[in-house]
Amino acid sequence: MSSSGFASQNGAGATYANGPSQNPVALYPTNQGYMAPPQPGYLNAMPAKEPTPPAPSYYNPSRQQPSPVAMFQQPLSLPASPNHRPALVPPTHTPPLANSFYQHPQQPPSWPHPAVNQASPAPSPAPPQPYNTGTSTPPVFQNTMQSPALVPPYSSLNNAYMPAAPAVNVVAHQSFGPPQAALRGTLPPSGPPPPPLATHSDGPYSAQPGAMNRPMGTAYPSLQPAYQSVPAPQKPAHMQPAAQPYSTAAPQQYQQPSVSTAQLSPSLAALNLQSEMPEALRVVNLLQERNLLPPGAVTPPTPCLPQDLQRLNCSPEVFRCTLTSIPQTQSLLNKAKLPLGLLLHPFKDLSQLPVVTSSTIVRCRSCRTYINPFVSFLDQRRWKCNLCYRVNDVPEEFMYNPVSRSYGEPHKRPEVQNATIEFIAPSEYMLRPPQPAVYLFILDVSHNAVETGYLDVVCQSLLDNLNSLPGDTRTKIGFITFDSTIHFYNLQEGLSQPQMLIVSDIEDMFLPTPDSLLVNLNECKELVQDLLRSLPQMFSKTMETQSALGPALQGAFKLLSHTGGRVSVFQTQLPAVGAGSLKPRDEPSQRAAAKDIQHLSPATDFYKKLALDCSGQQIAVDLFLLSAQYCDLASLGCISRYSAGSVYYYPSYHNHHNPSQTERFQKDLKRYLTRKIGFEAVMRIRCTKGLSIHTFHGNFFVRSTDLLSLPNVNPDAGFAVQMSIEENLLDMQVVSFQAALLYTSSKGERRIRVHTLCLPVVNSLSDIFAGADVQAIAALLASMAVDRSVSASLSDARDALTNAAIDSLTSYCTSVLTIQQPGLLAPACLRLFPLYILALLKHKAFCTGTSTRLDERVFAMCQLKYQPLAYLMLMVHPALYRMDNLTDEGALNINERTIPQPRVLQLSVEKLSRDGAFLMDHGMVLYLWIGRNCNPSFLTQVLGIQSYIALPQNMKQLPELDTAESSRIRAFIDWLREQRPFYPILHIIRDESELKAEFMQNMVEDRTESALSYYEFLLHLQQQVSK
Ligand SMILES: [Zn+2]
Repeated sequence: MSSSGFASQNGAGATYANGPSQNPVALYPTNQGYMAPPQPGYLNAMPAKEPTPPAPSYYNPSRQQPSPVAMFQQPLSLPASPNHRPALVPPTHTPPLANSFYQHPQQPPSWPHPAVNQASPAPSPAPPQPYNTGTSTPPVFQNTMQSPALVPPYSSLNNAYMPAAPAVNVVAHQSFGPPQAALRGTLPPSGPPPPPLATHSDGPYSAQPGAMNRPMGTAYPSLQPAYQSVPAPQKPAHMQPAAQPYSTAAPQQYQQPSVSTAQLSPSLAALNLQSEMPEALRVVNLLQERNLLPPGAVTPPTPCLPQDLQRLNCSPEVFRCTLTSIPQTQSLLNKAKLPLGLLLHPFKDLSQLPVVTSSTIVRCRSCRTYINPFVSFLDQRRWKCNLCYRVNDVPEEFMYNPVSRSYGEPHKRPEVQNATIEFIAPSEYMLRPPQPAVYLFILDVSHNAVETGYLDVVCQSLLDNLNSLPGDTRTKIGFITFDSTIHFYNLQEGLSQPQMLIVSDIEDMFLPTPDSLLVNLNECKELVQDLLRSLPQMFSKTMETQSALGPALQGAFKLLSHTGGRVSVFQTQLPAVGAGSLKPRDEPSQRAAAKDIQHLSPATDFYKKLALDCSGQQIAVDLFLLSAQYCDLASLGCISRYSAGSVYYYPSYHNHHNPSQTERFQKDLKRYLTRKIGFEAVMRIRCTKGLSIHTFHGNFFVRSTDLLSLPNVNPDAGFAVQMSIEENLLDMQVVSFQAALLYTSSKGERRIRVHTLCLPVVNSLSDIFAGADVQAIAALLASMAVDRSVSASLSDARDALTNAAIDSLTSYCTSVLTIQQPGLLAPACLRLFPLYILALLKHKAFCTGTSTRLDERVFAMCQLKYQPLAYLMLMVHPALYRMDNLTDEGALNINERTIPQPRVLQLSVEKLSRDGAFLMDHGMVLYLWIGRNCNPSFLTQVLGIQSYIALPQNMKQLPELDTAESSRIRAFIDWLREQRPFYPILHIIRDESELKAEFMQNMVEDRTESALSYYEFLLHLQQQVSK
């Protein structure tokens, strides 16, 4: 995938169009179905839900005509005004729960959806309510069931198993009480002699007998009255009213579409034939099998679906579930002790994306699900929704297939053949005409900021990429600089040079010339370039040291409130004057605290409130923090978090003193300025009736139960959601999840990107374990642990992470394995689970006992919640390769390039040797460590130096030497880089390098002064599991 391929997606791309003979609007009014009464669970209380039926007057078909803003403010308004400010809901109920992420079967979830579970501890939670009152807040900071005061006291374990282990914070595992005690009661009273192999209580891995007899698509006894009012669907096809408008088509008996869920049952039956235990369930004794890493990347499990369904399923790069086999009931899920959730990368750069232009976007009349590959066609004229089971009509227009240019094959339409698809949205998906791309840059020009030299980099990067900013002829741009005062720039066409306007009354922010501060980029490009060229010098002599970031942001809000857009803030110090000023909270003495870390939550709600105001006006704020000193990212980060922005952090940034940071900043900026962007976005995630989403992770504002407000969406943003099973999925063999992202492209098109994931439902614990996706589980737990750190405490979060591993392995051992054997047993698919948990415990976000700056820790937490899964996993558990003995054995061949595939090594110094060279892929950064006694031929053939002594301290590039060794290693590194949209920097380090410590810190399997080795950690788990 080349970068040009990504760029071409900015509103461009081939589209399907319908045949000219169609006139669907006349046949099917476009607002059809919107007025249908809301179904339970899909409450339509919010006025601005993703496509809401607009009053006809809202839509102004002329995109060029300025919209009457007042008219749109109502539907767009959010609970963001001071009087309706969401507040953190105080805990109302704090039953003592153990440090676990999972709910007690008899108690409400420990991390509840506030609107769902706070008031009532009843086992079945109240029906979900939308976040529409303006008094609630996204649930992400909620932890009402867990109070630090109730954390079990530190209780020293029986430390006999780790005599030489350093002092660590290990809290004895508190069980969930009766249910778990009961589980453990099933253990044989005295362990039988270890059999050679464990067996599974569920017998051969299988679907359930009897389940296949249920015809798919007919038996839904739990349908609600509303659904039952639908005419009986099973009329034979030949009795259907012959509404075939395209009489040219030969008369034909209706045939079941080639691919549909209607065929699922027989296909599922095939799975039953699988008599052998799948590899995923192979029993692994973690204490004996040392090398558990696969030779290459860890691949996600493939859902156990019939091939024809799986072939159409959504790519795991975009949409993944922690459990690729969904438990039939919540109690089964509780028993497995694994988290159920989705991980999404919804706006990922895609090399292929089908785009459909259609005046009718076919959706379920009840639940508004977009038609997708997993619906079933009852006949040519009717399809059954796979989320709510409503039977819908197939619109006339849908009978024409633009791909094959034929009529009468609705099941072959691109919408039914692609799990990821994009629609060009018609007018009813607009609350106002799509706004232009608007970019506002806010630059810190205090003495401290100018001294770092960052301004040169930002201005130069903007000059270089001005023509590559996504947009069209309407694109607008503006600049604000600030120190203790706020400076606006009049860039109005016709001026001979930019005009600076200083506002020194920061208490009462106003716009000096509201109409000329945001200008058309094309028309005013020269003035913009003038400004960018002169900015670095304008402040070079400044002695102003204060930072009034809050007022600058207030000014930005005023400036963009009519159009929305993107605000990019560059900040280098703690804001000390005006609204939102902050005080230092980082106490160096606390950085290496063995237990709890203070000040992880914001010091003020100023930034969150402003972010919600911004979100209401479709403004996202991205924060670039460049600083050597404490900036209180925990407070500042709220401005991006709730406005769906991004946070970038460059600790100790300085152009001259820290060249590696500068290089990373430059690369990040290029990507940031040129990557695709969506404006005015909302994302809704729907799932099959019975499943319910209750907690979201990422940067956004939750507008209603399942609707995320995203003033901007970018292709590097990841999201996660937690789910529960509200109603038993007894009659279902599959369930589906659909994420729909509605956005305005930078070219002013309203578009909808839809991803649909289909997964099987199972009713045995062994099947649930067999489908566990260990990376998705680790990533979701990481997000949950970040919330727990903030709402309760870091030690609480750490205990919960450890207990997640203990609980699921205990469940596996007691409920899946019938015969016990010694060791720490895990199914093969979860064999990396303890390793990932340990890596998380040693990650900057959660580590204790090693000195970690507060901002760096908070940033690490932001990344865990925001990074897409693939990059997140490399940050948590980097990949280590040996580089001095690369061969072509097993190499990939891509475009006539040979790319060696070295084995991934364990992250332990025992895998390193001084006579070698090792590459560590940390996602954003690559380290190439050269051993002191490295093979001389590697030094000459790859590095172009004669001896180790000649290796420079700050080498960042491999020379292009004409040797086989050089080509191999460069091909490998290039290949790693090509797989991600950002550009990871290479650091070539030697023993004396400062970065050596960073490299060694990632050796997560080794013991450190303050943390267990992997083996010690396994012993700890074993002791807890066998309790
Ligand atoms: Zn539906």
